[in-house]
Amino acid sequence: MNKKFSISEGAISSHKCCLCGHLLSVAPIMSAGLENELYKCGRCNKVKCQTYTRTRLFEDVAQHLSFPCSYTPCDKKVAWGSVEKHERDCPYRTMKCPIYYHNCSDVVRVENLLEHFKDRHSKNIRPIDSIWELNIQFDYVFLTQIDNNYFLVYIMHLEEIFSISVLATGRSKYSNFSVKLLPSTDDKFAVYFDDLPVVRYDERSHCYMCIRKKCNEPHHPFAKRNSSGEIDLSAFASKLKKELIDSVKAPDGNLRYRITLKANETSSEHHGQPTEEEEEKEECEEEELCANISNIPADVNGEVLRRVLSCPYCMTYMAAPIFTCTIGHTICNVCRPRLEKCPSCAEPLGRSRNYALEEITKDARVPCQYDSKGCTFAGSTTKMYIHEQECSFSNLLRE
Ligand SMILES: [Zn+2]
Ligand SMILES: [Zn+2]
Ligand SMILES: [Zn+2]
Ligand SMILES: [Zn+2]
Ligand SMILES: [Zn+2]
Ligand SMILES: [Zn+2]
Ligand SMILES: [Zn+2]
Ligand SMILES: [Zn+2]
Repeated sequence: MNKKFSISEGAISSHKCCLCGHLLSVAPIMSAGLENELYKCGRCNKVKCQTYTRTRLFEDVAQHLSFPCSYTPCDKKVAWGSVEKHERDCPYRTMKCPIYYHNCSDVVRVENLLEHFKDRHSKNIRPIDSIWELNIQFDYVFLTQIDNNYFLVYIMHLEEIFSISVLATGRSKYSNFSVKLLPSTDDKFAVYFDDLPVVRYDERSHCYMCIRKKCNEPHHPFAKRNSSGEIDLSAFASKLKKELIDSVKAPDGNLRYRITLKANETSSEHHGQPTEEEEEKEECEEEELCANISNIPADVNGEVLRRVLSCPYCMTYMAAPIFTCTIGHTICNVCRPRLEKCPSCAEPLGRSRNYALEEITKDARVPCQYDSKGCTFAGSTTKMYIHEQECSFSNLLRE
């Protein structure tokens, strides 16, 4: 990147996602509101909102920047395009307490989950690979530990749906689990469910209440307000055949569960953990926009920034207020009152502004557009607007 360009950290941190409160550091960045003053980050991409438009110009600038991790006290600066991946495995990452439905509103650092459970929900801790005596009249959420990995286990006995989920709270080599069901009094007859998938816990995608069909989280595709009829739980819960459970349960509804985790053997070379490349591929298939962004070379020259920060009509650097058309093309505040329609696409120009880009131009240092002719002046876009009108190197051009 051209060294003459620099952008302050204040510009990065002045706008936050209106849904999750995190920095606008994960694409796609969408904006909404009367003047496009509301932003939604890529972490909240699953929340469907009709009226948002993508702020590509902000993304064009942001791909040159590094962003701080959302979790304190992590001091990692992460390049655009890698933020979500870092935050997924950041040692300081937090999660809402999974027992939130029981009046616990704590946000817990994942590595402290066990301590939090010991403190507040000690009945919800169970050792893996041991016998858990449960009753089919109830639902259960347990925390279990193996090596240094924590797993959440949901066991649901709901009307016609009996389901079980084993959710990894971090990277682990355990990719599958099996369940052995035993009658509460007799060890001879057992029912087995094998090779059920361990799913990565993602509080942005699913929760215990999703299975209960009482979830009000707007992020969750299974949320009550979005579902019409049958809910598809297959992404994070495995159904257990009710008849098989009925065949082993005691008359009072008691039965014994034994859950065993299995390490992924097929790719023992890297201990079952997906390599970074595999993970990236997987994530990009889920979100096609991500592919577009990571394909942009990290070291684009300053001409890209110059173009992004310049008005497409008069070609001078823009400063606040920066207006946009309904599609998102920018126009400077000098050209805006002179134009009815967007010069790039002929859509009407409304009151929409690109506040995130304005914030960036406030502190951006840019080179004079005549730098190739020998001008060494660099400064804010506002100063540059004045400078370029009287730059002596521009006269050289004309003569
Ligand atoms: Zn967000
Ligand atoms: Zn909305
Ligand atoms: Zn971090
Ligand atoms: Zn709690
Ligand atoms: Zn939910
Ligand atoms: Zn202009
Ligand atoms: Zn336009
Ligand atoms: Zn100059």
